[in-house]
Amino acid sequence: MMHSISRQWSREARQLWLRWRTTQTTEPIEFLGRPLPHDVTICEVGPRDGLQNEAVQVPTLDKIKLIDMLSGAGLPVVEATSFVSPKWVPQLSDAAQVLEGIHKRSGVRYPVLTPNLKGLENALAAGATEVAIFTAASEAFNRKNLNCSIEESLKKFEDVVALARREGVRVRGYVSCVVGCPYQGQVSPASAARVARTLYDMGCYEVSMGDTLGVGTPPKVAAMFKACIDAGIPVEALAAHMHDTYGQGLANILTSLQMGVSVIDCSVAGLGGCPYARGAKGNVATEDVVYMLHGFGIHTGVDMDALLDASDFITRVLGRHGNGSRAAEALLRKRQGEE
Ligand SMILES: [Zn+2]
Repeated sequence: MMHSISRQWSREARQLWLRWRTTQTTEPIEFLGRPLPHDVTICEVGPRDGLQNEAVQVPTLDKIKLIDMLSGAGLPVVEATSFVSPKWVPQLSDAAQVLEGIHKRSGVRYPVLTPNLKGLENALAAGATEVAIFTAASEAFNRKNLNCSIEESLKKFEDVVALARREGVRVRGYVSCVVGCPYQGQVSPASAARVARTLYDMGCYEVSMGDTLGVGTPPKVAAMFKACIDAGIPVEALAAHMHDTYGQGLANILTSLQMGVSVIDCSVAGLGGCPYARGAKGNVATEDVVYMLHGFGIHTGVDMDALLDASDFITRVLGRHGNGSRAAEALLRKRQGEE
């Protein structure tokens, strides 16, 4: 008991110090002679993208607790849930209860996925202040999964974005399959950039580029982001969403940082999977990303110790053997040894 209280105190002191340090440090961060972003915004997608792809149904109260632990760990953006039809994703049928139940920390954003106008109306009724829409860069993927062409799927979202903006709600855009697709194989940088540009023009303040299959390698990711920047999307409006299926996640994230991208999507404990490759890894684990970023001296505002608590909590809820994050696994083992 004493132990956890003292850890609690030191955690708060550390967060104060971290906040103070952000206002103090201005030296540019350089790696091998090239600049890296000084601050990186981590967009935590575990509670939505992660849990949506887990077979275990997590109780609503545990989802709420997880989100509160994540915001408490200093994560500035926590994607909370999806207002998708429960018929499609039963794991997220409690979207309204989750959004209404979380403790909304000031300064933290809680985007929710809204696949259509009905989803947006439900999200607004539950008090959403930021929503996200999605499409794929691959024509074949759109046809198989959304039953329409890229063009048609983008058209459907025009009403969603228009209503959201009328309500003063910010819209984030997702493009999936930006470097590879399970049906058509290769996806060209030009087609990924074209879809991203359309979402940006429609009014998305940020477009998250997702390697949904995790098949990308650094040269492919670099070419994809270069095409987006060349298409006129400001690099500040781009986010990297990398999956770790082929073990390329961190390398692809470092490449994204080197391209100037400073918003990274990732998932606590590596929650999630890949619906197109059974047993495959899902999103890159937040702990692994934070460990790497802090290793560069990049500021994230995240307290690793508190993040580990959240990671350990959800790992136990899911009844997993071992943590999905290698950094968390190592650090939790070390912590156990110290106690
Ligand atoms: Zn993902």
